[in-house]
Amino acid sequence: MYNGKYAAAVITAGGTGTRMGAPVPKQFLYVGGKTILQRTAERFSGQGVFDRIVVTLPEAQLEEGRDILNGAGIPADVLAGGKSRQDSVWNALRHLQGSGFPEDGLVLVQDGVRPYTEDSTIEDVLRKTEKFGAAIAAIPSVSTVRHITDGTLDRSKLYSVQTPQGFRFSLLVRAFEAAARDGFLGTDEAGLVERVGVLPEIAAGTPSNIKITTPEDLQKMSGEIRIGTGFDVHRLVEGRKLILGGVEIPYEKGLLGHSDADVLVHALMDAMLGAAALGDIGKLFPDSDPAYAGADSMKLLARVTEVLAEHGFRLGNADMTVICQRPKLAAHIPEMRSRIAVVIGVPEERISVKATTTEKLGFTGSGEGIAAEAVCTIVG
Ligand code: MG
Repeated sequence: MYNGKYAAAVITAGGTGTRMGAPVPKQFLYVGGKTILQRTAERFSGQGVFDRIVVTLPEAQLEEGRDILNGAGIPADVLAGGKSRQDSVWNALRHLQGSGFPEDGLVLVQDGVRPYTEDSTIEDVLRKTEKFGAAIAAIPSVSTVRHITDGTLDRSKLYSVQTPQGFRFSLLVRAFEAAARDGFLGTDEAGLVERVGVLPEIAAGTPSNIKITTPEDLQKMSGEIRIGTGFDVHRLVEGRKLILGGVEIPYEKGLLGHSDADVLVHALMDAMLGAAALGDIGKLFPDSDPAYAGADSMKLLARVTEVLAEHGFRLGNADMTVICQRPKLAAHIPEMRSRIAVVIGVPEERISVKATTTEKLGFTGSGEGIAAEAVCTIVG
């Protein structure tokens, strides 16, 4: 383990990530139950060698970022970034200057949306930066690259650049001052340091050290698939509406319960919560709570979807079976699927609803009640 000079990690998460097409900036998207920002910061806080961690975020996201990092017990200074990555890093460097960070300390700059950097990469960057003054994570190029006038380039001399990029603090400040003086805007810190005559060493990156830029990147990295099951029964009584899958079904009886007693949606919610090991609907919406008297179960389903999202999960697919002798349900199934899909925010083809009888056997067969079971996957 590196045990040398003062070290700081500067994590830049200034972007709004418009290429993701997501409603939140990509650093706040979840992968496997944690935000990308938290995962990235943990790569550095977990090393135990960084004396300072500075995170830059868009002004509007400062509070959310602080909450996430504090919640995860990551001691970071969270600052507003600038218009460009270069402005953001410059803000962070001035912050380090203002707080007495030593000139011969090491500063590693990391993309805030690169959450899978290996410990070995961080350590190699630290060691080489200490020895040579500048070192950047990179991997040998696997693509054949062609220069528009020079033809095919010698692949053995080509590297794909990643982060972290490490620099002696005084060198990095000098490079930024020179860039500011000349009005030069670079794509990364290495480019600025080269302008003042220092060619960074190559440290060992890994192919998995990707920068999450597009929805496909996120899909590639979404690791976990979980399965949950749910089961529910409600009694059929006179004087109640029969609601199944959010659809009111004409029948002489309805299901008895504290809420609207939508047995199918209850089984589904329990499957979703079960997959995330978050208990069941009884725990989330206690029937002792008058707030849920007569509650629309579709609203509860929307809440369950939210709770899952808060824990970094979304529904993959669901398959449900209603067990019921009467009434016949086939004609209502398309509408149930469609309503459930809309509330959860998934395509209809991921929601399956089936109905069966029990050949007049048991409590469902005699018409005393209706049962439902559900199986679903959730993806983290
Ligand atoms: Mg129930």
